[in-house]
Amino acid sequence: MIDCLFCKIVAGKIPAKVVYEDEDILAFNDINPLRAVHVLVIPKKHITSLATASAEDVLVLGKILAKANEIAVGQGSPDGFRVIINTGRVGQQEVLHLHAHIVGGAEPVGPMLKRI
Ligand code: 5GP
Ligand code: ZN
Repeated sequence: MIDCLFCKIVAGKIPAKVVYEDEDILAFNDINPLRAVHVLVIPKKHITSLATASAEDVLVLGKILAKANEIAVGQGSPDGFRVIINTGRVGQQEVLHLHAHIVGGAEPVGPMLKRI
């Protein structure tokens, strides 16, 4: 999609530190890492968010999750990790191309959410 930041990364128009790639998905380091390991895993096809994903996206969504452990271990998070998929306004999604954050490292990542 024109003017989508992550589509531009898929197209190689914006550089990224790619850590995994296959025909369907791309994984690259977050530009502003929140933990020692912080990788974004995206479908190469533009899908705006989990709110707009459809039945035809099931395989690529499954692949993102199925590859998460391999990516996390490879990046230095051997004892687990957290996957976060911010979705829409309430989920405070900033980049409107579906992405899974994989966060981890040597230490526990912290509480899931602050209670409000
Ligand atoms: P969201 O809030 O949409 O779930 O997360 C967007 C993420 O994209 C943020 O963690 C942010 O640091 C990351 N990000 C934004 N722009 C870029 C970029 O140009 N390159 C990379 N690698 N990450 C980006
Ligand atoms: Zn896109």
